[in-house]
Amino acid sequence: EIDLKELVEQTIQRLSLIGKEKNIHIRAHLSSCSIYAYKPYMEELVINLIKNALIYNRENGEVDITLHQEGRQVYFEVKDTGIGIPEAELSKIFKRFYRVDHQNRTGTGLGLSIVKNIVQYYQGTIDVRSQIGAGTSFTIRMPIVEGERKQYAQYDTL
Ligand code: ATP
Ligand code: MG
Repeated sequence: EIDLKELVEQTIQRLSLIGKEKNIHIRAHLSSCSIYAYKPYMEELVINLIKNALIYNRENGEVDITLHQEGRQVYFEVKDTGIGIPEAELSKIFKRFYRVDHQNRTGTGLGLSIVKNIVQYYQGTIDVRSQIGAGTSFTIRMPIVEGERKQYAQYDTL
């Protein structure tokens, strides 16, 4: 059982330097919340979404991070005021090595594919909404306990 609120708070701390460069304001709306999952996977998920929200943001931008329990699920949302993702690209960003073509930005294009694999491993869902020039939000819902997940989950691999 992982304290997700604590994990998200620690991740915000760890990534705060990236945000400082562009003077990005991070707002956290976190209520206490835990999940039965493998901690390194959850760390990876949280880091990747928050990192993207900071990197693909604008000068003086904002990031809103929301965490709460929603019935038997965890609700986690990362919303930014960044460059946005063209609608035609939205279905492709979860593919391995896929990057929307921006000049002078580097990355491997793996982050979101890892995030999606982790979410699917735990029988959760991930949704993305975006508007060019206005921002992007990623919303994740994941069952809190194993019993709420489908049986075959344990045989899946990342
Ligand atoms: P890394 O493997 O280092 O994370 P990456 O950030 O390029 O590299 P992903 O995190 O998988 O890879 O993201 C894929 C692409 O989706 C990015 O290259 C970027 O073009 C786009 N993207 C991801 N998150 C956002 C966001 N919050 N706002 C705008 N574009 C984004
Ligand atoms: Mg990334």
